[in-house]
Amino acid sequence: GSKSENALVDAHELLKKFYHHLLVNTKEGQEAYDYLINRGFTREIIDEFEIGYALDSWDFVTKFLTKRGFKPDEMEAAGLIIKRNQEESYFDRFRDRVMFPIADLQGRTIAFSGRLLKEIKGQPKYLNSPETSIFNKSRTLYNFHRAKKHIRKNQQVILFEGFADVISSVTAECQQSIATMGTALTEEQAKIIRRNVESVIVCYDADSAGIEAAYKAVNILTDAGCSVKVATMPDGYDPDDYIKEFGAAKFRNEVIENSLTLMAFKMRYLRRGKNLQIEADRMKYIDEVLKAVSQLTKAVEKDYYLRQLSQEFSISLDALKEQQQQVRHEVK
Ligand code: ATP
Ligand code: MN
Ligand code: MN
Ligand code: MN
Repeated sequence: GSKSENALVDAHELLKKFYHHLLVNTKEGQEAYDYLINRGFTREIIDEFEIGYALDSWDFVTKFLTKRGFKPDEMEAAGLIIKRNQEESYFDRFRDRVMFPIADLQGRTIAFSGRLLKEIKGQPKYLNSPETSIFNKSRTLYNFHRAKKHIRKNQQVILFEGFADVISSVTAECQQSIATMGTALTEEQAKIIRRNVESVIVCYDADSAGIEAAYKAVNILTDAGCSVKVATMPDGYDPDDYIKEFGAAKFRNEVIENSLTLMAFKMRYLRRGKNLQIEADRMKYIDEVLKAVSQLTKAVEKDYYLRQLSQEFSISLDALKEQQQQVRHEVK
């Protein structure tokens, strides 16, 4: 990186250490520390993920970094402080939040995500650093630098929506865990994943936002050449909730081990909101499944799912094959 980029990274590294110090050693950080402990994070985990606390102050960061030789325009370029309209004055972006440091693929701290301790109307639960010269959201994956060797060793990665999900999954001994930055998975992120591993388990929240996001993510991952499975949980749970309630072993053995194949997940997804007793819904479902089948690359898989459809809906295999040929031309 250039000299100015190094300065931005240095500012993040310094601040990360100080945020962590504030969380674990000071009276100002006590409430945030208790919040994390009450959520089930241990001191070891807080240290491992270098979680911190941003003081409830408008100018702590400016003062802290000025003392260490940083210029206001550097701190602003780093996304750490915000310029007041028209004035030569600045205020801290992150105030009174639990701070999750975000690293690039090499492990350099390039951004933060700050979580509120309790809900505040009109304020986002998680506040992320803005895009900067060192932080490109669509190319960043949370925990990738720590997970990388485990991803290679296990020949598998588990993709989550949230930081808390990754952290809980690591405590459940699934160290091959990463997350997007609170936004939809991008093609760039999928390419980064594919450069390191083929097999991806998508483990998103079991709510409608999570299921929709998972459907989009599996398509992006498949297009990038990944082989994808989808882990599912009881309605309303996210992976962090699940692990806290049912434990690590159940998470590994029942959620991760029992991940659905791509087609099983797609069929379950396509059934949502349909009543297959109704003819129109049934026809729509069959049509959508045929489209999904036509995107499969292995002939044996195609045959397998066509037979399954044939049996479930008492339709001849020939008719299904004929229609699948037609939709295949439409899809392409
Ligand atoms: P927690 O368990 O701390 O409540 P979560 O990870 O379960 O967090 P979700 O609401 O499921 O939170 O959101 C998933 C991810 O989306 C979060 O980890 C965060 O990265 C991002 N996110 C959530 N809410 C916001 C928000 N208001 N603004 C920006 N990003 C957000
Ligand atoms: Mn969610
Ligand atoms: Mn969640
Ligand atoms: Mn959660």
